[in-house]
Amino acid sequence: MERRTFLRSALSAAVVAPYLQAESAPDWGGPVLDTHLHLRRDADSCYTHIQGCGVSNAILLTRAPDEDRAKQEMERRPGRFARSVATDPTPPEADKIIRDALKNGAVSIGELKFHVALDSPEMKRVYDIAAEMKVPVMMHIQTFPHFAGELPYNTGYPQFDKVLRAYPRTNFIGHGDLFWAHISADVPTDRGYPPGPIKSGGLTDKWLSDFPNLYADMSANSGNNALSRDPGFTRDFLVRHQRKLIFGSDCSCADGNGSGVSQSNNPEAARLAGKCVARETLGVLKQQASPEVFRRVVWENGVQLFKVRFS
Ligand SMILES: [Zn+2]
Ligand SMILES: [Zn+2]
Repeated sequence: MERRTFLRSALSAAVVAPYLQAESAPDWGGPVLDTHLHLRRDADSCYTHIQGCGVSNAILLTRAPDEDRAKQEMERRPGRFARSVATDPTPPEADKIIRDALKNGAVSIGELKFHVALDSPEMKRVYDIAAEMKVPVMMHIQTFPHFAGELPYNTGYPQFDKVLRAYPRTNFIGHGDLFWAHISADVPTDRGYPPGPIKSGGLTDKWLSDFPNLYADMSANSGNNALSRDPGFTRDFLVRHQRKLIFGSDCSCADGNGSGVSQSNNPEAARLAGKCVARETLGVLKQQASPEVFRRVVWENGVQLFKVRFS
């Protein structure tokens, strides 16, 4: 590029960009709670994200060692955030780590993304804590690898109904590739995000109806894909489970507008490369749900389940 042309375009970008960003933040017609926003390394970066995509509040998913950093983010933007606690459930000290964080103000456990079985003694200990402390527990359920050598997380989903039945006082939030693949009765084993029409009778769909203690987190490519692959199915699914679905993004874009995000680690998720997952999924929900159902799944359900009050 010629130097003068470069200077001119750099200048106009610098002048125009802030206004463009302010103008382009969507208005979703009311408050929106992102229940799946990972705490970021850079100060105020979570706030930048929610501002950019028109989200009002978020649960900052926080690893136990990052608790103080999450508190700082909450203090910097009062009334915007709450935080969870996540820790590997396998060591004996996990019990104390989780309890201490919950006593200290964490509102949920998760996300738990570890290489254990859903019905393992370690996870059962977490389910007991969740019931006792009256907080939900969010699990990442995935078996098909995103990259060579990736091990499965929270295995044994086809038998998860036994856990749901055995822990009626625990509120479970399912999330992740396999959880959402089971929205359909046929689940391929050679991919994480199956496309195309949904066959009725999927385990996730059935268990959301059967078990009052199972909730579904619609975040990430997995949730977006499940809600996008068969619009006719989605419409009824949203109505059917309007009290059980909660909005989350799991988005890692920088600005709430799709920049800086890379799905290069996972070619299967290329459909959302360069896009903000929060915006994309809120767009699908806005299009497919009535205003009443929209408000439930993007706000009311999450506020009730996480027992949060923002003011
Ligand atoms: Zn996850
Ligand atoms: Zn984003």
